[in-house]
Amino acid sequence: MTFRHRHLLGIEPLHPAEISTILDLADRYVDLNQSTNKRSDALAGLTQINMFFENSTRTQASFELAGKRLGADVMNMAMQASSIKKGETLIDTALTLNAMHPDLLVVRHPQSGAVNLLAEKVNAAVLNAGDGRHEHPTQALLDALTIRREKGRLHRLTVAICGDIAHSRVARSNLILLGKMENRVRLVGPPTLMPAKIAEFGVEVFDDMKAGLEGADVVMMLRLQRERMDGGFIPSEREYFHRFGLDAEKLAYAKDDAIVMHPGPMNRGVEIDGTIADDINRSVIQEQVEMGVAVRMAAMDLLARNLREAQAARGVMV
Ligand code: ASP
Repeated sequence: MTFRHRHLLGIEPLHPAEISTILDLADRYVDLNQSTNKRSDALAGLTQINMFFENSTRTQASFELAGKRLGADVMNMAMQASSIKKGETLIDTALTLNAMHPDLLVVRHPQSGAVNLLAEKVNAAVLNAGDGRHEHPTQALLDALTIRREKGRLHRLTVAICGDIAHSRVARSNLILLGKMENRVRLVGPPTLMPAKIAEFGVEVFDDMKAGLEGADVVMMLRLQRERMDGGFIPSEREYFHRFGLDAEKLAYAKDDAIVMHPGPMNRGVEIDGTIADDINRSVIQEQVEMGVAVRMAAMDLLARNLREAQAARGVMV
């Protein structure tokens, strides 16, 4: 097994073999999660703290369940209600938590780079659960696992990522991962929602859904990230749906067996038609959620192994 990292802060530092290692282990956890005995002791004795400075439904629940199934003591910090509101800095909060000796810290923060900064200050293994518009590595990994299981491979596929690319950490982590695994990535959306210099990432850029979806194996839709917009990026939601919302007519341009993905939360009728999202023959949105638990179990398991190894090397028994 190759995975030589102390933290999981992004997809950027990962080697393709490390991505495969995580996905292979996650496949085993999918089987465990589908069985009646969902327990393993991979994290027994370890403490996992989830710190979410930004709202989350799926990711927080998924990390909590993943930790519990692996036998960790899991604590959710209610960051909205914590001292942060009283003006304590991120670093002070981190140092306070560090003194409680957590082994795994799962962190979501609205500012890009905040999680990397925090990782420098604590002894625990840090997992980035989404920082600003920077990275959301476990989302890209769970998307990769979903694609690999659905398509039987994770290379030489045409993947169209559509919508609000500029504000999306999901798009960023996904395009890095899919590029590393040698797929063809297309970004589709209005020019106002396309980051500057994006073509440098080796992707193709489209502002027309039909052209962008032509022959695609995977269609990944993104939410309009209004909380990160500070102006009028789109004329109106109705107009946006008309041009960029995924409906049956636009999906018909993709391959007949193309799958439809969405990281959630979904805005039905804005970026995706509800009937497409619910179409069990095309949509793998629920499967993405299922893969999320398994991928997070795999990531925490691998980080814990490295943690135990490093501590053993220092002569500390864990
Ligand atoms: N849940 C994903 C994220 O945290 C996508 C989204 O919020 O639209 O980035």
